[in-house]
Amino acid sequence: MPEQTESESRKLLRRLQATLAEAGEGQERLDRITHLIADSMGTEVCSIYLLRDPGTLELCATEGLAPESVHVTRMRMGEGLVGRVAARARPINTANAPAEPGFRYMPETGEERFSSFLGVPIQRLGERLGVLVVQSKDAREFSGDEIYALEVVAMVIAEMTELGAFLGEGAALSPRHQQQVMIRGGSAQEGVAEGVVYLHEPRVVVTNPIAEDPHAESIRLREAVDQLRVSVDEMLSHAPKGDGEQAQVLEAYRMFANSRGWMRRMEEDIARGLSAEAAVEKEQSTARARMETVPDAYLRERLQDLDDLSNRLLRLLTGQGAGATGAQMPDRPVLVARNIGPGDLLDYGRSLKAVVLEEGSVGSHAAIVARALAIPLVVNAKRITTEALNGDPILVDGDQGIVHLRPEEAVATAFRDKIAMMAAAQERYASIRDKPAETKCGTVISLQMNAGLMADLPSLVSSGAEGVGLFRTELQFLTRNKVPRRGELAQLYAKVMDSAGGKRVIFRTLDIGSDKVLPYMKPQDEPNPALGWRAIRVGLDKPGVMRMQLQALIRAANGRPLSVMFPFIAQFEEFTQARDHLLREIDREAALGHVLPAEVEIGAMLETPSLAFAPRHFFELADFISIGGNDLKQFFFAADRENERVRRRYDTLNVSFLTFLEQIVHRCDDTDTPLSFCGEDAGRPIEALCFGAMGLRTLSMRPASIGPVKSLLRRVDLRELRSVINEARTTGAQSVRPAVMDWFRQQG
Ligand code: PEP
Ligand code: MG
Repeated sequence: MPEQTESESRKLLRRLQATLAEAGEGQERLDRITHLIADSMGTEVCSIYLLRDPGTLELCATEGLAPESVHVTRMRMGEGLVGRVAARARPINTANAPAEPGFRYMPETGEERFSSFLGVPIQRLGERLGVLVVQSKDAREFSGDEIYALEVVAMVIAEMTELGAFLGEGAALSPRHQQQVMIRGGSAQEGVAEGVVYLHEPRVVVTNPIAEDPHAESIRLREAVDQLRVSVDEMLSHAPKGDGEQAQVLEAYRMFANSRGWMRRMEEDIARGLSAEAAVEKEQSTARARMETVPDAYLRERLQDLDDLSNRLLRLLTGQGAGATGAQMPDRPVLVARNIGPGDLLDYGRSLKAVVLEEGSVGSHAAIVARALAIPLVVNAKRITTEALNGDPILVDGDQGIVHLRPEEAVATAFRDKIAMMAAAQERYASIRDKPAETKCGTVISLQMNAGLMADLPSLVSSGAEGVGLFRTELQFLTRNKVPRRGELAQLYAKVMDSAGGKRVIFRTLDIGSDKVLPYMKPQDEPNPALGWRAIRVGLDKPGVMRMQLQALIRAANGRPLSVMFPFIAQFEEFTQARDHLLREIDREAALGHVLPAEVEIGAMLETPSLAFAPRHFFELADFISIGGNDLKQFFFAADRENERVRRRYDTLNVSFLTFLEQIVHRCDDTDTPLSFCGEDAGRPIEALCFGAMGLRTLSMRPASIGPVKSLLRRVDLRELRSVINEARTTGAQSVRPAVMDWFRQQG
C-alpha cells in the first residue's frame, strides 16, 4: 500500500476523531462526518444510512443529496443498491449506478445526477447497522485503496454507533440496546420464563477505534498475537491424546494465529489509523458476515474458529476477562450465549430460569442437558448476543421458540398472564398428583417419567410419576472428557435407586453416536450418522464400555431389583447378544462375590420399524418393550428428527403411524409383553390420549407433562375417542388430529 494513501487515510481518521470529539447532538455529528468524508475523498456525495428496524434502512445524513430527503428516504434490506450492500454485507462499487442490477431511483434525493457509487456496510461483529455511501458525477470506479479507506471509516462509525455517539430523534438514531426486540428461534426445550439477561461470555467493548501511533499499535498487536500463539500451543500440548475433534479445532486456531494473511490485513488496518482492537474487530466482522453466506459446513466451522480466536485476541488487547463476565448473577438469570458446552450448562444448573443460544441446535449436547434440567431453551436466536446486555429484562417462550428482549409492558403483561395460567394449571395438577390416571371408561394408564440426572429424581415425588420409565445414561458420559469410572457410575446409579425409594427405574444403556458424540470418542465421519454406528451397535462391536456400565448397574442394585433396557435394537439377534452380555456380567459378578440384584428385567427399545416385525420369540424373550417414539417416527417417515424442515411435515397422529403403533400393541398383547412409549410425544396431552386409545397402557414423559396428561386422561372416555379415530381412519384422513380436536372441543 503506498505510503501516500496510508497517511491520507490516517489523516481522514484523525479528522474523524476530532469531529467525533466535538460537542453536539448525534445528528450534527453525522452531518459533519458526511461533509468530512466527501471532502476528504473528493466526492460530491457522502451519505449515511442507518437501520431503523432490522428490515429498514433510513437516510440519516447526507452531503450532496437533497437535504429534505434526510429521515424521509427509506428502503428495505436488499432494496436498491444501498439495500443490497446491507443485505449482502459487501461493498458495491460501480461507475454507472443506474445500470447496476437492483438500482432503484429515488427522485426525492436528486441522485440521478451521480453516476458512480461506492457503498460499504457499516457493521459490527456481523451485525448490520447501516451503509456508508459516496457518489460522484464523473463515471469512475473507486480504487481498491478508496474502498479500503471507506471500510475503515465505516468500522469507526459502527463502533461509535455502538457507543451511542449518534443519538437523536427517531427510530434510526434511538439508543441501541434499549428498544424492544423480538427474536424468533427454535424451541429446544419447552417452558416459559421471565427473567434478566446474564451473558455467559464477556462482551468486549472497544472504546478507542482510532489510534494516533500506528507503530505503537502494531507492536501491541504483535505482542498480543505472540501471547495468543503461546496459549494455543499450550492448549494443544494439554489436549487429551486421542481427542481428535479438540485437537482439530486447536490446530485450526494455530493455523489462524500463524496466518500471514490475517496478520497482514490487521497491520494494514492499523497503518490506516485503526487501533489494534478495532483492526481485530474489523477482520472479525468480515469473517462473521462471510460465515452467514458460506454454504460449506467445514468452511463455516473454520470461520467460527477464527471468530473464537479473534475474541481471545480482543480480550488480550482490552484486558477484559474471559469466562465470567464479572457481572453479578441476577435473581432470575436467563443465560444468553452464542453456544455453551454441556459441562458449563450443568455448572450453572437449575439456578437458570431459561437459556437462549444464538447457535445451538435441538439435538446439541446443551439441549440434552437443558432438557434434563427442564430449563426452557431457545436455540438459533439470531443476533441475541449482539442485542442483549447484562441486566436486560427478557421473556423466553420455549414452547414457541420466541424471545422478547426488553419487552414493552403490554407484551410482558400478556406473557405474565400466560405464566399465571400455567401456574394455576400446575396447582390443579398438584391436586390430582396422588390420584391414578384413570379414564372415564375405567382404563388406568401408568404415567412414568423420563430422567437423565440425579437432579431429576425429586420430580418423581412432585410430579406423581409411578416410576422412571427411561433413565438416559448418556449425560454422565457426555459431560466428562474421559470415560467415567465404574465405581463412579455404580455410586451414581445406586443414589438414583435410593432416591426412587423403591419405585422402578429403567436404566437405558449408553445411547451414543448420531447426534450424541462423546468428546473423547473418535469421530466416525459417517455420511448418515443417524443411520450409522450408534447405540447398541457400538455396544456390541466394542463391548468394553457397555460391560463396565452393566457391572456398575449390577453393583448399584446391590440386592434390589434391576431393570435394564437396550437402545436401538433393530433385530432379534442384537437383543439376544446384549441380553447375553448382561447375563454373563451377572455370572461374573456372582463369581467375584458381589451381591446380585433380587431380580433382573431386560427390555428393548423399539426404535426402528424392523423390530415391530421381529419373530414372536423376540416378544417372548423381552421382559418389556419401550417404544422410542422420537427415533421410531424419524425412521418410519424417513424424516430427520433434527431437521425442522422435514420433521414437522409428518404428524404423530398420522393414520399410518397410529396404525403401526396399534400393530405393535397387538404383537405385545399376543405374548403378554409389557409395552410402554417413552418418546417426547408421550408428554403431549392429545397425543397421549390417542396412544391410550390405540391400546398403550404405560407412557413415560418429562415430569412437567405428567400433570397435564393425567388431567386430560381423567376427563375422557377412551372408547369414544377410539371410535372417533376409527371413523377418521375409514374416511381416508391423513391425520386423525382434526377429528380428534373436534371431538375434544365438544367435550367442553
Ligand atoms: C426416543 O428415540 O424416542 C428416545 C426416547 O430416545 P432418545 O430421544 O434418547 O433418542
Ligand atoms: Mg432414541
